[in-house]
This record gives sequence, C-alpha cells and structure tokens, in this order.
Amino acid sequence: MFIEAKNLSKNYGKQSAVQDLNFHLGEGEIVGFLGPNGAGKSTTLKMLLGLISPSAGTVLIDGKDPQEQNIQLKKQIGYLAENNPLYPEMYVREFLAFIGNIHQLKNLDRRIQDVIEWVGLQKEAHKKIQELSKGFQQRVGIAMAILHDPQILILDEPTSGLDPNQRDEIRNLIKSLQKDRIILFSSHILSEVEAICDRVLLINQGKLVSDSPMKEIKDLE
Ligand code: ADP
Ligand code: ADP
Repeated sequence: MFIEAKNLSKNYGKQSAVQDLNFHLGEGEIVGFLGPNGAGKSTTLKMLLGLISPSAGTVLIDGKDPQEQNIQLKKQIGYLAENNPLYPEMYVREFLAFIGNIHQLKNLDRRIQDVIEWVGLQKEAHKKIQELSKGFQQRVGIAMAILHDPQILILDEPTSGLDPNQRDEIRNLIKSLQKDRIILFSSHILSEVEAICDRVLLINQGKLVSDSPMKEIKDLE
C-alpha cells in the first residue's frame, strides 16, 4: 500500500491553493501534514481521497486513481474531515451501526464492540453523541474512520478545538492505530505532529516546504 502525489496542483478559479506537490507515503508511516491555516492541507487531503479533482498532477493510491471511485479502494481508506459532522441525536453505538451498515460490514456487533474498546468509548457507548465532551466526540469520529479497518487513515486536524489533555489522549489514540497503516494527519501546530509522527510534510502557501524525518525537525530546535 502506498500513496503517491505527483506534481499535484489545485486552483480555485484564479487562486492557486496547492502547487506542484510531490510525495510518497508507505506502509507503517505516521506522517504529519503541518502548515498554517489556508496553506492547502484540506485541499490536498481531499485530492488524495478523490473528493476533489486536481487541476494538474496525479494521485495514486496503491497504483490506482482515487477518483475512479473504486469500491476496493474505498474500503482501504478511513477519513475524518475537519469539523466532521456527527449525528448529535444518535447514540454512539447506534451511530457506529449506521456507519457499519453503509460499509456493509459483517459481524458488525462484534466489530463495533472492538472499536469502542480501542478508542476508549466503553462508558460512553450508550450515550447520545451530543452528551459527550468534544474529546469523546472526536473519539467517535475516529471510531467511525477505523470501523471498516482501513489500511490508510486520513485525519484532518483531528486535535483542533480540544483542550491539552484531550489533545494528548487523541494523539496517543492515533499513535496506537499505526500498526501497518499509513496515517496522514494535518495540523497547524508543530507540537501536535512532533509528539507522534515519524515524518513531517511542511506546507506553506500551497507549496511543500520540506519533507523530513521528525528527528531532523527536532534537531533544528
Ligand atoms: P488548510 O487546510 O491548510 O487550512 P485549505 O486547503 O482549506 O487550507 O485552503 C487553501 C486555500 O484554498 C485557502 O486560501 C482557501 O481559502 C482556499 N480554498 C479552499 N477551499 C476553497 C474553495 N472551495 N473555493 C475557493 N477557495 C478555497
Ligand atoms: P490490543 O487490542 O490488545 O490493544 P492489538 O495489537 O490488537 O492490541 O491492537 C493495537 C491497536 O491497534 C488497538 O488498540 C487498536 O487501536 C488498533 N487495531 C487493532 N486491530 C485493529 C483493526 N482490525 N481495526 C482497527 N484498529 C485496530
């Protein structure tokens, strides 16, 4: 499994949002996508997911174009959008069953129970999503993203809007999901990616400024 971006660009009208990005991500990598607001992170992630089309360049996921809506490929990718809308009126377990049915998962009850345990929602599983703290709501979002056991996990600003303790917990949770997956998550805060990433892609004004092992970034400080 790999993700490859080649000369990837996106313009919105005359405005360039992403310009000529090149990178290759491989199995087992946990990669931070770091840059200030407006740098082009969400735009890039949406192109990787095939949700928007590049103005130029290509994305390949395991050799395939994500825009072709290949079902096999969709099964391999979990995505948590920035400010992901959950269904506040739903109970946690009910919501996960709803998502699992969309994916047509087998042994869904067992799977939901496992995922609830992995993300630490045991005590919240019978509550309505709207009753949960932001940190727990974000766990529901992560549970949703991993429910179908994807090989690739793309998380857009998964720790934003959380307090420092909640951020810590969500980061540790993301780290625990690494296994053989490719995890790419965006943030505008260095310390967020520093804590758990092996590698950092730094983006500014739509351009990739650097692509380095975390160790090198730490040595710069
Ligand atoms: P980030 O995720 O790093 O905050 P975005 O990818 O959301 O950055 O945005 C990159 C640039 O593209 C910004 O200047 C933003 O205003 C612009 N942009 C994003 N989405 C759209 C859109 N749908 N239409 C027009 N401009 C957009
Ligand atoms: P444990 O379940 O004892 O914590 P595992 O090695 O089974 O240890 O899993 C490590 C972590 O990887 C889990 O806590 C969970 O977050 C995640 N994980 C394991 N298997 C899966 C799976 N099939 N789908 C999604 N996440 C998984």
